[in-house]
Amino acid sequence: MTDNLHHDYRAQLPDDLRAFIHAMPKAEIHVHLEGAIRPRTLFALAERHAALDELPAQDLAGLRRWFRFTDFPHFIQVYLTISALLRTPEDFAFIVRERGRTMAEQNIRYSELTVTPFTHVHLQEKNLTIDALLDGLEEGRRQARAEFGVEMRWVFDIPRNVNFDAAGAYDPWPSEQTLAFALRGLELGAGVVGFGLGGYEVDAPARPFAHAFAQAKAAGLLSVPHAGETMGAESVRSAVEDLHADRIGHGVRAMEDPAVLDLLLARNIPLEINPTSNICLHVYRRAAEHPFPHLDRMGLTVTVNSDDPPLFTTTLEEEYALLAVEFGYTKVDLARIARNAFFVCGLPPAEKARQLAEFDQWMKIALAWA
Ligand SMILES: [Zn+2]
Repeated sequence: MTDNLHHDYRAQLPDDLRAFIHAMPKAEIHVHLEGAIRPRTLFALAERHAALDELPAQDLAGLRRWFRFTDFPHFIQVYLTISALLRTPEDFAFIVRERGRTMAEQNIRYSELTVTPFTHVHLQEKNLTIDALLDGLEEGRRQARAEFGVEMRWVFDIPRNVNFDAAGAYDPWPSEQTLAFALRGLELGAGVVGFGLGGYEVDAPARPFAHAFAQAKAAGLLSVPHAGETMGAESVRSAVEDLHADRIGHGVRAMEDPAVLDLLLARNIPLEINPTSNICLHVYRRAAEHPFPHLDRMGLTVTVNSDDPPLFTTTLEEEYALLAVEFGYTKVDLARIARNAFFVCGLPPAEKARQLAEFDQWMKIALAWA
């Protein structure tokens, strides 16, 4: 493995820019709860369940090495191992609280975390009901707010590939279940704000999910499918036209068709961009080839995110540092990108206005001194 994948961008910054990125109030709108678990949190979960033998390493250093991204099959293996150790409401409360700690360490004020409830309630045998899962998330969110002063909401996403059998036939059950879980979350006031579609786009087109997304939107959820990551611009078009996307997860491969870029511009659809994730998964060979600055200059509303940070050896601060090192983004540029995330997030209007006002207040002072 080359170390093309793992730069330490923060270390390459001048001190004042690194401090600026750290102190800047941040929102992150594309990050997976299961993929945000750190090695030491996973280690604690395994100890809690007396299941250290289910891990490939028996100590933290070994686990850290195993976490490091090598290729896609390994990535999926890590993901499933993590998911299998999330068994009780207390486990979810624990990882959500730990996420709150990570947020506070980076001055991330708000996270919109994607959760895949179908995996926990149905795919993996753990006798967990959706209400128990929602209870765990809510308890963790309450603790994180109380202890770290951070805010969170949830995106429930459909694992798209499990809706298709080997012959490519569509089975609506996983998407209908995920919809029912999201609506249950709404009913309980448990902080679900978005409905997503994740996984490998190849052989798993978006169109069959149109019905579930229409119902989710009618109930007041944002449509936030992944598209244009493992497939090209047509996948992005389908997310817009068939799923009426309010935002696109990734969307970077819209670059491959000017007509799709025009569609995104005309409908003013924001992109949740994850540069390091795209490099790890070979969407682009190196950061310098990533289209982030092009999409930004074109006038699209772009945000920067970390996707599955410990699995890609990154953090949200590291993603901002990447923009500065690779593309010469200044403090003013970085502040504009950071503001976009608050602006397009799924918080209720009053809460969003409060977060934006705090951001603007901080920026006024920080840039006056810049
Ligand atoms: Zn993602």
